[in-house]
Amino acid sequence: MIAEHLAQVEENIRTACRNAGRSREEVTLVAVSKTKPVSMLTEVYNCGIRNFGENKVQEICEKREQLPSDIQWHMIGHLQRNKVKYIIRDTALIHSVDTYRLAEEINIQAKKIRRIVPILIEVNAAGEASKFGIAEDEVLQLTEEIARLDNLRIQGLMTIAPYTTDPEENRPYFSKIRKLSVDIAAKNIDNVHMGILSMGMTGDYMTAIEEGATIVRVGTGIFGAR
Ligand SMILES: *Cc1c(COP(=O)(O)O)cnc(C)c1O
Repeated sequence: MIAEHLAQVEENIRTACRNAGRSREEVTLVAVSKTKPVSMLTEVYNCGIRNFGENKVQEICEKREQLPSDIQWHMIGHLQRNKVKYIIRDTALIHSVDTYRLAEEINIQAKKIRRIVPILIEVNAAGEASKFGIAEDEVLQLTEEIARLDNLRIQGLMTIAPYTTDPEENRPYFSKIRKLSVDIAAKNIDNVHMGILSMGMTGDYMTAIEEGATIVRVGTGIFGAR
């Protein structure tokens, strides 16, 4: 069943890329495996997926010990500063940096192991009180501040759009975040790249791709309901 789900997601990604005149290679699928057992991750791995997303530090740590080492682990959930040390070595990308204090802690831990850690700035695109992420009008300033930290590399922006059954409702948010990333890129800030746009989940990833997403984070669409 997972293989069929995955094939459907892959076909949808291709369709969205075609709609947008983009190449399939521009978009990375991150399989969001939170709450799902290692056996299901193995199934997805065996279908060729190498990027997995988790939102809890403990879950990343437990799963990564039981799975092949060529998996790229993405931290996509809210990250507490006291847990940064546990994921600093083996996380491919931290999507959820939304405060300077968190960035500073990642920098301290990264320095200890002499690693340059790639991160994204999480933006609260719809200004929802229930969501993490920094407000749109504060992103540039936070980016400039974090850019001065030597052991971090800002690679782009991430956003979690509102839950909706109509993906068209989220199109304006995706488009807005893409424009924001283009504006920031134009400032040519040292140590800041805006190559990655992590946006789009099961309900809206096709729309997100049409609006420029380079990473989509799909959980339910691959693993089924949580
Ligand atoms: C759970 C989660 C997803 C995946 O959500 P689905 O709707 O199941 O695809 C994507 N991004 C983040 C940050 C999440 O926490």
